[in-house]
Amino acid sequence: MIAENIQNIGENLKKAAIQAGRNPDDVKLIAVSKTFGADAVTAAMQAGIMDFGENYVQELTEKREALLQSGIRWHFIGHLQSNKVKYIADWVHLIHSVDSEGLAAEIDKRAARTGRTIEVLAEVNTSAEATKYGVKPEQALDLLKRIVRFPNIRLNGLMTIGPFTDDAGASRTAFRTLRELFQEANRQGIGSAPLEVLSMGMTHDYTAAIAEGSTMVRIGTAIFGSRTTQSHT
Ligand SMILES: *Cc1c(COP(=O)(O)O)cnc(C)c1O
Repeated sequence: MIAENIQNIGENLKKAAIQAGRNPDDVKLIAVSKTFGADAVTAAMQAGIMDFGENYVQELTEKREALLQSGIRWHFIGHLQSNKVKYIADWVHLIHSVDSEGLAAEIDKRAARTGRTIEVLAEVNTSAEATKYGVKPEQALDLLKRIVRFPNIRLNGLMTIGPFTDDAGASRTAFRTLRELFQEANRQGIGSAPLEVLSMGMTHDYTAAIAEGSTMVRIGTAIFGSRTTQSHT
């Protein structure tokens, strides 16, 4: 089941990239395994996935413990509280959801302690939905400039959660906002190197995201099935 789903998604991602005139190798699949156990993660690994996304620190640390020898790259994609950074700082591969200077400061501090440079993305709320985290688009460039001042963080791009809608046009508008901010940041030369990552697109809107330039899609439901339990924090 999971292997078949991954195969199908892979084909769909490739088709969407080609349709957008892009190289399919430039779109990376992050499997979002929240609420699913180590067995499901292992099945996805056997189908070739090494990048997994999780939203909750405790769930992530438990899953990682259960899969310590796996070599998985763990992505943190949920809202991150500053007081939880210490639990993931030693090993997290990429934090997609930095939405304040205070959180960046804490990541920088923990990174310095573990002797790492932690790679992050800034989360932007592109749909003006009040329930969402992320900095407003108008404030995004200012936040980026603040994040790049921290020596133990490497800012490598932007992330957004698209609107909760099946309207592909509305999805594209939100993703276009993120892509334009990304281009503007690179035009201004914010940071020591050009930003590379646009993390956008989930099960219901990844085609629109790829059409607007996504380089990382975060897909859960289409790989693991629908979530029947709540993730815990
Ligand atoms: C749950 C989640 C996803 C995956 O959503 P699906 O609709 O299951 O593909 C992607 N990104 C974030 C931030 C999430 O919380």
